[in-house]
Amino acid sequence: MTVDGAPDAGGRTPWPGVRTPLPGPRSAELLARKDAVLNGPLRDGGNVPVVLGRKTGHVLEDVDGNVFADHLSAWGAAPYGAQPRSVRAAVQTAWDRYGMEIAQYLVSEPVVALAERLVALAPPGITRAAPSVTGTEAVEAGVKLARESTGRPIVLGFLGQYHGESTYLTAAASTDLPGNTSNNAQYAPGLVLVPYPNRFRAPFHRGPGPYDDTIYLDYLETWVLRHQVEPSQVAGVLVEPVAGEAGILAPSAAWWAGLTDLATRYGWKIVLDEVQTGLGRCGEVFAADLWGLRPDVLLLGKGLAAGGQPLAAVLGTEEVMAGSHAHLGGTFAWEPAACAGALAGLDLLTSGGVLENARSMQRTAERVLGPLVEEVEQVGDVRSVGGWACLELVTDMASIAPAPAFQHAVHRAALRRGVLAISEPDKPLYRMQPPLTMEPELFEWSCEQVADAVREVAADPPEEDA
Ligand code: PMP
Repeated sequence: MTVDGAPDAGGRTPWPGVRTPLPGPRSAELLARKDAVLNGPLRDGGNVPVVLGRKTGHVLEDVDGNVFADHLSAWGAAPYGAQPRSVRAAVQTAWDRYGMEIAQYLVSEPVVALAERLVALAPPGITRAAPSVTGTEAVEAGVKLARESTGRPIVLGFLGQYHGESTYLTAAASTDLPGNTSNNAQYAPGLVLVPYPNRFRAPFHRGPGPYDDTIYLDYLETWVLRHQVEPSQVAGVLVEPVAGEAGILAPSAAWWAGLTDLATRYGWKIVLDEVQTGLGRCGEVFAADLWGLRPDVLLLGKGLAAGGQPLAAVLGTEEVMAGSHAHLGGTFAWEPAACAGALAGLDLLTSGGVLENARSMQRTAERVLGPLVEEVEQVGDVRSVGGWACLELVTDMASIAPAPAFQHAVHRAALRRGVLAISEPDKPLYRMQPPLTMEPELFEWSCEQVADAVREVAADPPEEDA
């Protein structure tokens, strides 16, 4: 595609190519310096054996001159490639004009225009917006609004979902518990977590027979609402429309209909965390559009920045937000240049072929990676939604036990072939999260490299630690 994320300076995006062992000498030196000075989780024991040198279009170049297809897109925060020209121009023009300013006290036109634009794009019923800097803060704000507007204390969340790193949201974000929190797990009052539909690791399904994820709602209604929490005490449900960090899990339309029914019956607010799914990642402007959801609060982050300046947003209905006294935002929230960059990003999202490109990525991932499930014992599942693909690697199909050594070997083999994607030591997921503007040829080539990496590792699988 030649959406604005294409390389600037008239150059062509360099094609991936790895010419040194990984890490290369310069990366090795910088990684050693990093490990000596940054805190625990950032000392990743060689999980990502490269140091970024520069970023162009849809590739990352390390400090040793190795070039990788970018399947991180800054964890979704750079959805239009490295330096989309229109975003850069908008950020720079606004900064030249307004400098840094605090939107909460002194607004400027980009702030107002962004709020108007987001409300116009959002699902029906959303009429208001509030500023935020990070996804974490936006989700915190969503929880505040649900509690404030209902006067109720309890929030229902879903096991395995990720919402951020504040104390409260770390408790809600049970993606990584309990393995790797090292006595740092947070337990927040007023938070009740229930299972989220997961066809591959289904807590409520075993053996043959059709998989029906409305059984999760039966559990919620029959057990949780009868024995654990009084429905009239629940302010709202906090939910990702497609679980991202938990591995691209999408519930059925029937599950959404059932959850919406419960929310209507009991007066719960639906707080939809679209920080990662929103703005094109799932092939629609909002993942809510996949099912026609009507959230009371909708949260955005990551891709809203369009690769420019950091910002996030809280969107809500008139009922939830118009009379709210909650102070949302902070000093940096919606500084003018960030808003101007976000507006330029929304132009890219809605005027080019970005959504169609994301949908075509799903088809490519299904075609190239999908067959691995039949072909390779250790590929337990392949899931893809829009510009997102994920492999769940296992020791064998009978136990579906996670296979971290196998996964790490796949990650390394893909890196040697020039694909940098997401593989974390404590999660049994290999994920591809490219910029939504990645050229179809580069995306297909990347999937082929990952498939070959899987085959290479399967030919001589590593031992898993007992
Ligand atoms: N919600 C979701 C669904 C996310 O994926 C993330 C980040 N991965 C967050 C919230 C937190 O966003 P941030 O890192 O900007 O605080």
